[in-house]
This record gives sequence, C-alpha cells and structure tokens, in this order.
Amino acid sequence: MQKGHKLEFSCQSCKTSVCFSIFELDKMEGEISCPECSLIYDFSDEVLRRQLRKFEGLCRQIQQSDEILSNTSVGIYIGDREIKIPYKLLLTRLNSTLDLMIGEQPLTISFRIEPSKDVPVLE
Ligand SMILES: [Zn+2]
Repeated sequence: MQKGHKLEFSCQSCKTSVCFSIFELDKMEGEISCPECSLIYDFSDEVLRRQLRKFEGLCRQIQQSDEILSNTSVGIYIGDREIKIPYKLLLTRLNSTLDLMIGEQPLTISFRIEPSKDVPVLE
C-alpha cells in the first residue's frame, strides 16, 4: 500500500480493490481507473468530491482522536442491562464506509484504518 492511499472501493467489473486518495483525485481531475481492468470511474462531480473529502476528513479526525477515544465508551442497553463498549473497539471493529452514486451506479467507498495493536481480541 502506498502512503496516502486511504480510500478504496471494489471495482464493479473485476472486483479488484481500487485504492485512491483525495489528493490523487484532485490531481487526476476526478478520474480514477481500475489497475486491473482499466475501467474508469468518474469522480469529477463537485458534490461527490466534497462528500469524499468530508468523509476522509471525518475518518482522519477519528484516527487522530485515538488517544482520547481509548477513554470514552458508548453505552448500549440490552434488556435492562447497560453494556459499555469502548469507542476504540467500535472503530477498529467496524468498517467505515460511504455509499455514493456514481452516475447510475451505487458505489461503496471505504476508509482504510490501520489496526491498532493494543486492542483486546474478543472471542
Ligand atoms: Zn476492474
């Protein structure tokens, strides 16, 4: 993985995972092509790019807040019992994804989060 590649999606044609960054998107004027089958994805739409930028910003912010997230948790009620789940655990377990429409096609973009080493393994 090259540095700066933070976003990825699965190619609609060949299912290869296509990695890209907002920085690249601006440089390539919104065109990302699949490294395997060369299918071109058009992200030139300003609204799409704005959403991607916000999404990447949000995910980066979550990563940067890692230090305090370790000390915060979300309470979930199951029946009458409250279970506290640390945010850090939630964020490393869940994939951050954004669903967009590229023309007529739905596309799910995901943010790659490098796994933390100090997260306990749940069985
Ligand atoms: Zn492809």
